[in-house]
Amino acid sequence: RERRTSDVVVIGAGPAGLMAARTAKAQGLSVTVLEARRRVGGRTWNGLVEGADGKDHFIEIGGQWISPDQTRLISLVEELGLPTFSRFRDGRNVYVDPRGERHVYDGLDFPVAEKTDREMDRLIAKIDELTAEIDAAAPWEHPRAAELDKISFRHWLEQQSDDPEAIDNVSIYIASGMLTKPSHTFSLLQALLMSASAGSFRNLVDEDFILDKRVEGGMQSVSLAMAAELGDDVVLGQPVRTLRWAEPDPSTADEKNGVAADVRNGVAHDGAAGDVVALTDDYEVHARYAVLAVPPNLYSRISFEPPMPREQQIAHQHISMGLVIKVHAVYETPFWREEGLSGTCFGGGRLVQEIYDNTNRGENLAGGAPGKEDPHGTLVGFVSDVYAEQMWALPEEERKAAILGAMAEYLGPRTLEPIAFFLSDMAAEEWTRGAYATSYDLGGLSRWGHLQNRPTGPIHYACSDIAAEGYQHVDGAIRMGEAAALAIAEREAT
Ligand code: FAD
Repeated sequence: RERRTSDVVVIGAGPAGLMAARTAKAQGLSVTVLEARRRVGGRTWNGLVEGADGKDHFIEIGGQWISPDQTRLISLVEELGLPTFSRFRDGRNVYVDPRGERHVYDGLDFPVAEKTDREMDRLIAKIDELTAEIDAAAPWEHPRAAELDKISFRHWLEQQSDDPEAIDNVSIYIASGMLTKPSHTFSLLQALLMSASAGSFRNLVDEDFILDKRVEGGMQSVSLAMAAELGDDVVLGQPVRTLRWAEPDPSTADEKNGVAADVRNGVAHDGAAGDVVALTDDYEVHARYAVLAVPPNLYSRISFEPPMPREQQIAHQHISMGLVIKVHAVYETPFWREEGLSGTCFGGGRLVQEIYDNTNRGENLAGGAPGKEDPHGTLVGFVSDVYAEQMWALPEEERKAAILGAMAEYLGPRTLEPIAFFLSDMAAEEWTRGAYATSYDLGGLSRWGHLQNRPTGPIHYACSDIAAEGYQHVDGAIRMGEAAALAIAEREAT
């Protein structure tokens, strides 16, 4: 193995890991970033899909949108000199109701019956009342955290209302739209964390807010730009297999039973900066600190020597990835615009519950230039949780037909004939295993959440999935990467 030495070893070159490395360097610390994949960016990924026209078409396989509250990401994008543009949203939207009837409407409010409209408003207000009580940085500190964490979001909604259409429509914004898990599998507290992290539930409901801006040339450009600054400090294609992070104290060894008592009792938890060694197939990186910048569902892919304290080992088993298919369909032109439609479509409880105009812009497109829009129109749709499972179980052509058919319910028969079609499948990727992000199972957040950002000896944690502001988003990843590096710099200074 090639031996390297640096102050900090960062595991994972997604936005969190790269921001940690960038910040640590700015603080005068040397860094090595070890990345499992042969590319940086993690769950952000600028891709190409070949069309029936023989041309490659640009797509964003992973995270892409920025909302106005995501101020740390916005300032970083500016600093890196990356241009942004607004999501296309001119024209009328489409809603398909539970009976399959299509309605064209203006503004944000779905064209539902007056009673359902009132119910939706009431539910949204109720969720926002509770959201205002939640500190996104510590939802487990809410005086009724355990109570809010033991009821599923679905069950709670059903206790509040007997209008299934209102429940489905309100549920979209957290369940299929964000956590990408069925609403009966996560708690009300977990739902409130999601809305608190975005400022309010109303912000999640407002697609013009939450899906506001995009980076020209794709969100992965943020990671590519940071990696370019870091140069040889980033090593690709090197999954970290083992992390040695503390020497157990032999004086406390429980010789009879073979486990070091200090580790078992959690003493190492408060361990100092020390000799950290990250081992990959080809590298051995010696450092004083590690930043673990991978999604929590992947912590257990690394052998920790000594093992993590028991509370961490238990906590990590209660965090899992959601599942969603991001659908990209590229057309000769954005035909929906000719019909006065924005491309924004909703239908709670349907196979495809949301669609947006995702036409690209920028100089990295074929024939592109800064600020220039692609003449081809792109739609993006989402197939979440149980529907994603159903779709992956189908043969490829049937899957494509089912998904395009569901999109055509909103935008008509021309939707059925894309020149290029691609399904993002992060669940099949070994170094992600789902989409968009991880969340706790019922009751997990109030029991284990307080541990997620507490360093384990010299190991600091950084990921969008343990963020407060920008939770499960690139902004949260950037914030967590920066915070981990600043915490290490502070420890170094004392
Ligand atoms: P990641 O991006 O997951 O990066 C972690 C890195 O660690 C990866 O590169 C991985 O390969 C690496 N790694 C894992 N294990 C190891 C190991 N053992 N050794 C070395 N390296 C390892 N966010 C938004 O803000 N807006 C959106 O519109 C949006 N849409 C999304 C759509 C999709 C389809 C997906 C999948 C995500 C979306 N997100 C969105 C979420 C966003 O992409 C993530 O929040 C963000 O990428 C998380 O960054 P991260 O650095 O915390 O983790």
